[in-house]
Amino acid sequence: MAGGSAKICLPRRSIRSYWGVLFNLCERLSLLDKNHRVINYLRLSVTDRCNLRCIYCMPEQGVQFISHREILSYEEMLRIVRLCVHKGIRKVRVTGGEPLVRKDVTHFLEMLCNIEGLEEISLTTNGVLLKRFAADIKNSGIRRINVSLDSLKPERFFRITGKDYFERVWEGLEAAEHVGFHPIKINVVAIKGINDDEILDFAELAVRKPYHIRFIELMPVGNQSTWNAERFVSTDEIYQLIQSHADLSPVKSNPYDGPAQRFKIKGGQGEIGLISALSHHFCDQCNRLRLTPEGHLRGCLFSDQEIDLKTPLRQKKEDDDLLQLIELAIKNKPKEHGLLKCFPRKCVPQMNRIGG
Ligand code: SAM
Ligand code: SF4
Repeated sequence: MAGGSAKICLPRRSIRSYWGVLFNLCERLSLLDKNHRVINYLRLSVTDRCNLRCIYCMPEQGVQFISHREILSYEEMLRIVRLCVHKGIRKVRVTGGEPLVRKDVTHFLEMLCNIEGLEEISLTTNGVLLKRFAADIKNSGIRRINVSLDSLKPERFFRITGKDYFERVWEGLEAAEHVGFHPIKINVVAIKGINDDEILDFAELAVRKPYHIRFIELMPVGNQSTWNAERFVSTDEIYQLIQSHADLSPVKSNPYDGPAQRFKIKGGQGEIGLISALSHHFCDQCNRLRLTPEGHLRGCLFSDQEIDLKTPLRQKKEDDDLLQLIELAIKNKPKEHGLLKCFPRKCVPQMNRIGG
């Protein structure tokens, strides 16, 4: 092509699709934090209150709860979520504390599910009130549900949670299955000397039920007295144990799976998931922000950096002002939790407040 510039001829359709690619790229760029991670997932803690006292999360006595007037109203939460969607959030998980103890939560879920631009909305619950609310949750539009259950033995459930509610949770799971939640994910925090002898029982549950059992490493958050290195069970140990009794094959994860490594058990209906929050920390892929019940946006579970959205919200600031703060929280998301470098680090208190 000597002399003159080359003339690029593209068919009309191609030009449009080039614009599409460019648009997607710009959209993606606006969601990158300064470590080039796409931030598209918000964990929304709707309350710090709970009807259980799991040993690793909340002390039995003396918990300081946030006063009602300091907790965001549902309208305030919805406004923040809408603005977050504007900044690229596509997935929201409603958590707590125990989300189902907050009044009218299913009405809130319905409004949340109507927010345009959200592609996935899920709920994490301890299951105690699930039997009562399963149908309403399904009708609200929620399609994915995680139920936390650390033991299949009622007396041990009592020891871990401080309440004799195993049957209620089990009935909650059955109700969730009955109204058509699929898959139902069960979160199990493995703790040495407390429930690690049940790992194979949970694996067996994933064989006979269509449940996705997700083993979570015990983290130094919440109730500080529970955490110590002797209590820790790594997901590598869990994998080895299950693999020595069953045939595990990896399952390709989808973009919204988060950090779980997934496995099918040969001949089983469900799946096993391993969440290695400490042993193979996944900070370089972390796509999360957290909104606390009192309206603080937090980039990392283990960092004290928070951006207060409630004050400007209640001062009736414009959307643009709030959008700038959300962008700041995204851009300044900590690079990593650093727990492995400076361990043992002080525990992060109040997992129920931040939202697990
Ligand atoms: N109350 C609901 C529940 O228990 O499912 C939602 C909130 S809870 C804080 C969310 C998840 O965080 C639960 O699966 C719980 O087991 C997990 N979690 C709480 N404290 C933890 C800790 N110290 N280490 C690991 N997981 C923890
Ligand atoms: Fe409550 Fe969930 Fe914490 Fe257990 S883990 S005390 S159920 S908030």
